[in-house]
Amino acid sequence: MLVQAYGAQAGDQPLAPLEITRRAPGEHDVQIDIAYCGICHSDLHQVRSEWAGTQYPCVPGHEIVGRVSAVGAHVTGFKTGDLVGVGCMVDSCGDCEECHAGLENYCDGMVPTYNGATPDAPGWTHGGYSQAIVVNQRYVLRIRHPEEQLAAVAPLLCAGITTYSPLRHWKVGPGMKVGVVGIGGLGHMGIKLAHAMGAHVVAFTTSESKRAAAKALGADEVVVSRHTDEMAAHAKSFDFILNTVAASHDLDAFLVLLKRDATMALVGAPSTPHPSPQVFDLIMKRRSLAGSLIGGIPETQEMLDFCARHGIVSDIELIGADQINVAYERMLKGDVKYRFVIDNATMARHS
Ligand code: NAP
Ligand code: ZN
Repeated sequence: MLVQAYGAQAGDQPLAPLEITRRAPGEHDVQIDIAYCGICHSDLHQVRSEWAGTQYPCVPGHEIVGRVSAVGAHVTGFKTGDLVGVGCMVDSCGDCEECHAGLENYCDGMVPTYNGATPDAPGWTHGGYSQAIVVNQRYVLRIRHPEEQLAAVAPLLCAGITTYSPLRHWKVGPGMKVGVVGIGGLGHMGIKLAHAMGAHVVAFTTSESKRAAAKALGADEVVVSRHTDEMAAHAKSFDFILNTVAASHDLDAFLVLLKRDATMALVGAPSTPHPSPQVFDLIMKRRSLAGSLIGGIPETQEMLDFCARHGIVSDIELIGADQINVAYERMLKGDVKYRFVIDNATMARHS
């Protein structure tokens, strides 16, 4: 099947309309008409070759929601018309310790939704900046939010699970003081989720202008991280910090805010290394610096259901596909509250 998409032909080229091929659904496949796709900062890193190994043309997008339009003969969980989502992966080996644990995200054979190796032409996966996608049913998620929230559900498929998973892993809950660094797509979801889990949430931002908005998202306190006096007031007080910043920065400024035995988990994936940490900041209080990658399929469904129960969606700005390049520039300036989502119906204009 030929479908309209948006992608880049090289790292220094803007995204533009192109046509891609989707396989006919196999026995275990679900074919999805994509209604909306969120724009993750990872899309920009990948499409601009800020990370290694980008294959071109590159069609990004891993915050996909839409309706099932066809299913293979052996598909049991989904039927035509269902509201579904696809996140950051579309396959894994299915037979390693990680896959058996429902942590397919950590499988060495995990296939990312775009730029992942596939037998389908052209040899690498194309993502959600497209009209349709065909995915094995094991990687399809059920959406239980009301349909009118669909566009705002899209970012849960990456920004939601990438923040939910570490918050759960480090057992965030009532009585804990939790920091979220960076109020972008991931960070704003981190604030909402940590708040819903009952923690006392402190948001860290470089943008003075986000101070009031962060409170509306559920932050109990907001710290502008450039203000050293504000930072110092929180020394040695955090049980957990989730760092979502997309650029290289001084981690020590946040590590010293952790209590003894507490952890800062990094989810931001900048293209250049951080200048830190100083080992003494870790040693002196037995602190940990950790990382976390999206989340497994069972936990992604758990997160979607948690969000549906708590009425949580992303704060979005809906755009037409022809606005993607402008959206990238605005995302780089931190000028989005807090996630751009593409209305994929606008791609039909180019067919
Ligand atoms: P985003 O919407 O651009 O948000 C990043 C935020 O970081 C910005 O809004 C800004 O927040 C802050 N920031 C940016 N530049 C900064 C700098 N130089 N110093 C300090 N703060 C800065 O990006 P996103 O989509 O949330 O993604 C964030 C990062 O996570 C990206 O690197 C992305 O690739 C990565 N990611 C990782 C995973 C994973 O599985 N680990 C999954 C998805 C994305 P303030 O204005 O509040 O300071
Ligand atoms: Zn993402």
